Amino acid sequence: MASANQDPDYWPIHIARSDGKAYENLDHSSLDPNETKDVEQLERWEVIIAGHLQFQLAPKEEKRQFKLAGLPKGYELRCAVRKDFGRDYYLYGHPAGIKSNYRTPGDFVLHLLWLASDSTDYAQCSCDLCIKMVETIRQKAPQAQVSLPPAPPIPGQALPPAQGPTPAAKPLAAPAPAPAPGQTTPAGPVAAPAAANVSAAPPGMIGPPNVFRVGELVWYRQGAWRLGLVLGIRLKVGKPPQADNSYDYILAPLGHALLNQQNVTKEVADMRPFLTFSIPEVTIEELKDKSFESVDWRDFATRYANEPEPGKRAFKMQTVGLEASKIAARSINDSFSTFSRLGEGFTPDHMYRVQSFTGVYFGAEMVRVGDPIRVTAPAVVAIQDPLGDHSKPTTAVMLVSEIQLLTPAWPGNDPAAAAAGMNLQFRGNIYRTARAPLPHPPAFVHAATLGPTFDHELAGRNQIERDKKFAWGWMLIESNAVRAEADVQGRFYVTHKLMSIIDPARLQDSVQRGIIEEAQSYLNSRSHSGWNGRTTTGLYPRRAAAIGNAVATQFIAPQGLVED
Ligand SMILES: [Zn+2]
Repeated sequence: MASANQDPDYWPIHIARSDGKAYENLDHSSLDPNETKDVEQLERWEVIIAGHLQFQLAPKEEKRQFKLAGLPKGYELRCAVRKDFGRDYYLYGHPAGIKSNYRTPGDFVLHLLWLASDSTDYAQCSCDLCIKMVETIRQKAPQAQVSLPPAPPIPGQALPPAQGPTPAAKPLAAPAPAPAPGQTTPAGPVAAPAAANVSAAPPGMIGPPNVFRVGELVWYRQGAWRLGLVLGIRLKVGKPPQADNSYDYILAPLGHALLNQQNVTKEVADMRPFLTFSIPEVTIEELKDKSFESVDWRDFATRYANEPEPGKRAFKMQTVGLEASKIAARSINDSFSTFSRLGEGFTPDHMYRVQSFTGVYFGAEMVRVGDPIRVTAPAVVAIQDPLGDHSKPTTAVMLVSEIQLLTPAWPGNDPAAAAAGMNLQFRGNIYRTARAPLPHPPAFVHAATLGPTFDHELAGRNQIERDKKFAWGWMLIESNAVRAEADVQGRFYVTHKLMSIIDPARLQDSVQRGIIEEAQSYLNSRSHSGWNGRTTTGLYPRRAAAIGNAVATQFIAPQGLVED
């Protein structure tokens, strides 16, 4: 995104990506190149902005002075002359609109960090204008098909300077090293941390090892525990971007759209993954064993809450909402919708068409290639166990390498038969955690090769482990495994992250005793909360379709996640 070349005073930085709108007929006046104050002010913005970028993105040993080589395309600094002839400056061009402006270089830096990152999701930008824009659009969404403006494309590479050899110095864009666990990002002149760290993650998630993702069904505390859908995740100002509790989570209460329940903003302390609790039974007789779509909710609500006394009626409407949320949760739990198709082909016998995908909304959760998921263990695991460890085996965890949807290649004229023959499957190696004396036997796999979630899991376990002659590792228990929809229990969560959310006291106790809590045993499997009367495949074209009328706000899939 950025490059530097030689200059006696300042090294220029070019920002390769811009979403500036180059509006015409803006308020205030253009800068006057003959007005010293204007010239100085523009230079001041460029130097301050470059300084912030350097602080956030450059390696610590970088000592050169930088200056922005011009504002990003489509952005314009403008001037308002006050009555006392003082001059105020405003930066225009943000896609939120012609009236939106930044008042200080520091405000704009947050947006530049986002532009410099590889995020295409405005919800991941922590600048004020983006926060307001995302909020406005989310509020408008139920009434109209309004969506966020498309983000500018990400340039493939840092652009080398047009002339001359590549400078010897590292490009400024080199990401700052991640802080060690427990160490916080140093406080600096910019209030928010580098957005670049956040947006290195795939769309809709903070990072692969983090607990909650956009579009997931969760529990949240509102007096009692309620069901909700994660609409957005937003970094709080000045917080480290890796931690779950650095974020605000915008949730749509589950129920029915006609109840028009307002979105709520929650913190992780008041949230839990859906699979940590069971859905309570439906208490109203006529709703029992009904699917969400088979109930005429308007008719039911009118009859059920037909009370002359407003207090009583409000209470009954609340009950309608609760019952609707339970039934909706079961149907969302049973659903799945794939996204970001990778390719397609046929099974070797040509009986099935095989489409593979980057990810799938799988019931309550989002699962992507590269994620660990909890699956049924291979039957022979005890025999394969080289440790002869007869204690209760830990969870079988598949590192997902492929997500495939199989449909009959010759469905004939019967769409129902085709749908019935359709199935979702997950492929990958299966591992489990095991504790063994050092050095580890060869069956243990180097965790770093398995990805960040596996790595975080071991780091957490080994930190807690009291006997340092032992260490935890990942052991391969089945290669090239295939698991059908029914054999997948749900996402695997990093134990200490999950525990810190669902039972911090117990985690504390576990740390003190030096004994690992098997947190995954607190999780239900997806089939546990299913709706017994399910007759369909559960496949929906998009997450929003699977959610249907269960929320009052239209769900917008994170930018970069391609549904269909
Ligand atoms: Zn922004």
